[in-house]
Amino acid sequence: MKDSKKDIRALTREELRDFFVEQGEKAFRGNQVYEWLWTKGAHSFDDMTNLSKETRSFLDTHFVINHIKVDQMQRSNDGTIKNAVKLHDGLTVESVLIPTASRTTACVSSQVGCSLNCKFCATARLKRMRNLNPDEIFDQVVAIDQQSRLYHNRPLSNIVFMGMGEPLMNYKNVVASIEKITAPDGLNMSPKRITVSTSGVPKIIKKMADDGVKFKLAVSLHSALDEVRTDIMPFNEQMPLHELKEALQYWYMKTKKRITYEYVVWRGINDQDKDIEALIDFCLAVPSKVNLIEYNPIDDGQFQQADPEAINRYVAKLEDRGITVTVRRSRGKDIDAACGQLANKNG
Ligand code: SAH
Repeated sequence: MKDSKKDIRALTREELRDFFVEQGEKAFRGNQVYEWLWTKGAHSFDDMTNLSKETRSFLDTHFVINHIKVDQMQRSNDGTIKNAVKLHDGLTVESVLIPTASRTTACVSSQVGCSLNCKFCATARLKRMRNLNPDEIFDQVVAIDQQSRLYHNRPLSNIVFMGMGEPLMNYKNVVASIEKITAPDGLNMSPKRITVSTSGVPKIIKKMADDGVKFKLAVSLHSALDEVRTDIMPFNEQMPLHELKEALQYWYMKTKKRITYEYVVWRGINDQDKDIEALIDFCLAVPSKVNLIEYNPIDDGQFQQADPEAINRYVAKLEDRGITVTVRRSRGKDIDAACGQLANKNG
């Protein structure tokens, strides 16, 4: 009869309080349960030790806590940890802990598979797709925070939505998860330490600006020329660059927050001066900076990392125009945990 029980994390604090009152109990029990669920990340009623045994088993007859399970954990020799995360319905996603000298970043998934079709991304090849619920995203953060404390002796400091899936195609649940992660009665993390990375869905970028979200925005640009971008990110045909640019201008006007462009330079695809000039134009339209990220090969070699000279040309020309640019090396490549390598390939 497991299925007839309601997932307790679908309830608001108010609804939990009301539930207890209806049962002839005190409303503050609802607060206690809420705190166990959203501040302490409890996955079992038995963990709720300030409730009586009777109350715990009573909750157990009415509710379930659908939660993720870290099924497999791989540790890279650079300290990166990749988790294969089992969802309550048996599907799997991946999340990654990325340590640096000063911080620990959680890279979390927002969907099972992805509906976009970026040619260079391993996740795009996974057919099966569903959106993650807010608690499934929340649980990834809690699991990585625990690993950070255990293996790196410090709490999690940053979160990036750069795992599997396109966060803006699951906008409602992503925002709901961030609310729990940042709430004072949740994990109480600062939204300034959270980055949502998108392939660029103009309509939702505008909605985010209207909603006044407080997290940071990164856009996977990879090319500022429509013909090139459509080739490697075919959805660009439906959402071309001028729409993206307009949405980003709107974002900046409303939020005053600078945008980060994620950009991989590939040999023979976007390594020419015309590509650099187009990127410069795009950058000058909205306050922004560029992250040049290393390509992580996923296949037969259709895509190859550009020569160092091409990267250096990008850096020099961008800097020359006053645009901030960083070159980012990938982490966790030996365990397929780097950008674009997440494809449920474990072991
Ligand atoms: N869908 C979101 C978030 C997931 S991808 C987005 O597109 O932003 C996270 C980043 O990894 C994106 O910038 C994506 O373009 C990049 N990426 C995808 N495949 C890659 C690969 N094989 N090598 C390097 N980066 C890759």
